[in-house]
Amino acid sequence: MFRSHTCGEIRLAQAGTQVTLAGWVQSIRKFGSITFVDLRDRYGITQLYFNEELNPQLEADPLGREYVLQATGTVTERTNKNPNLPTGDIELTIASFLILNRSAVPPFTIQDDTDGGDELRMKYRYLDLRRNAVKKNIELRYAVNRATRDYLHGHGFMDIETPFLIKSTPEGARDFVVPSRMNPGQFYALPQSPQTFKQLLMVSGYDRYYQIVKCFRDEDLRADRQPEFTQIDCEMAFVEQEDILNMFEGLVKYIFKEVKGIDYSEAVERTTWEEAMWTYGNDKPDIRFGMKLANLKSAFRRNGVLEATGELVNGADFKVFDEAETVLAIAVPGAAEFTRKQTDELTEWVKRPQIGMKGLVFIKCNADGSYKSSVDKFYSEDRLKAIAHAAGAQPGDLVLILAGAEERTRKAISDLRMELGERLGLRRKDEFKLLWVLDFPLFEYAEEEDPASGGSGRWVARHHPFTAPKPDQIQTMIDNNPAIDNPEKYLEHPYSGIKANAYDMVLNGNEIGGGSIRIFQRQLQEKMFAALGMSEEEARHKFGFLLGAFEYGAPPHGGIAFGFDRLCALLGGSESIRDFIAFPKNNSGRDVMLDAPSEIDEKQFRELQIKLDPTA
Ligand code: ASP
Repeated sequence: MFRSHTCGEIRLAQAGTQVTLAGWVQSIRKFGSITFVDLRDRYGITQLYFNEELNPQLEADPLGREYVLQATGTVTERTNKNPNLPTGDIELTIASFLILNRSAVPPFTIQDDTDGGDELRMKYRYLDLRRNAVKKNIELRYAVNRATRDYLHGHGFMDIETPFLIKSTPEGARDFVVPSRMNPGQFYALPQSPQTFKQLLMVSGYDRYYQIVKCFRDEDLRADRQPEFTQIDCEMAFVEQEDILNMFEGLVKYIFKEVKGIDYSEAVERTTWEEAMWTYGNDKPDIRFGMKLANLKSAFRRNGVLEATGELVNGADFKVFDEAETVLAIAVPGAAEFTRKQTDELTEWVKRPQIGMKGLVFIKCNADGSYKSSVDKFYSEDRLKAIAHAAGAQPGDLVLILAGAEERTRKAISDLRMELGERLGLRRKDEFKLLWVLDFPLFEYAEEEDPASGGSGRWVARHHPFTAPKPDQIQTMIDNNPAIDNPEKYLEHPYSGIKANAYDMVLNGNEIGGGSIRIFQRQLQEKMFAALGMSEEEARHKFGFLLGAFEYGAPPHGGIAFGFDRLCALLGGSESIRDFIAFPKNNSGRDVMLDAPSEIDEKQFRELQIKLDPTA
């Protein structure tokens, strides 16, 4: 028997008993002839008390940090109790001990506030994982995993594995590919998600499926993305959107309860994509705080039509507003007292390349009812008052206004809103607010990346090509030819107004899940592929199996997938998913511990019949 107890469980009530512990040496404090050692395992820390008389070998063979120790001793009440430790009332007076293994001096200190930099911690991730702060995250991840399985199992879902070596059908992101030795010149792809498999399982009659599954996307890694990540992937047959929303809002609430002890009893708020864009400039708004956008003059494409609102800022002698496609404002509560330095700093903030605006206009709505602005030269106080009113400002608020090209300005004001939410402490880590965003556009029109290819643009699926249109718009899709004669006028094409039967779940301004009701009729699926510019042959080549399956009694179905890593990070109060993955990749997609990716042997190339062409 290596141990009778763990390092986290002994209490004063056990005083006088003999116990054996095993663990790692966290710290050593030597005072003359006596030595205190903190022994750590997964469950906690217990103080060991050594003295030279009882443990003479300590002198000859001293302990070091991270040594693995087995120690037997008597539970003794401590004179100097540590109220911060659950075991802080006791220590073990060591009668005998054994060094089970020695340790080199670790490259960083293994404690909550480590001195190790990011890269070093990742290189020695197995040591980093010993730290309490990381362990807590891994434990939380497992708690989310368990709660998910409990809930889904309780609702009749079956976990069914789907293959990792599949066919490459690049659509959204780039595929990771794996060469096949047995089929020279041919490649598997790693799944970007089990999407088509879970739909096939519905055709096969497994009407409630789930999997907590790895997905692989070869994307340029923006901050906090991983090339392999985990999804809670789910699919249901014989359902409508409402069934899915209820089932999975139930899942997230169950996770909140189990993992955080939070009773999220109110119904999850819902908004349409259009409303979200209109109100927050963003399709994953943080609704923990207001600061909704006011469109002082907007060219937002609503229902496919350019909509211009308000002459409020037109006609004035301020060219910037007159010429801008869009003018958007937010009222920042209680910020009229911002100093010159603060407003200057905000102006610099919006001018940074990531935000990309030319400037920032502000109106201070002073508590005494007067107005002061950065455009006093151009606007009378009455006019300022009217603008502030339109922005929904109260006395004491600061109105911030951005003007420019529609898309960029909308994104910028949304970023500015989030930044001020952060600065004013309105994005509280312990507050969780869910939101369903519904009715996304089915298609987006994408400019051709490579105009040399002849085309000027094409429809792309906003979610993925298996997403069904709203039931009342199916006919519009079937009846119309997707071709666009004049790309300038794509907004007038019947396809641009088609809404998808798709939904995203948003938590505190982060998309945590998304899914859709699927197409289950062959004809409509073929129409969809055609709209995305696939020839019949290409569609058959890539998705023949699915089109075939739709001929054999495919039931109506739909599903959703949650970003498991992100969900864990948000529940753990962190923005970084890496902290919640045992062995993550760095921002360049490298595993610095394994030093992967790496070159392979000549022999492996030969077996695969692959030659590298460095000049390509
Ligand atoms: N497979 C989709 C995704 O990964 C989710 C879904 O539609 O269920 O985004």
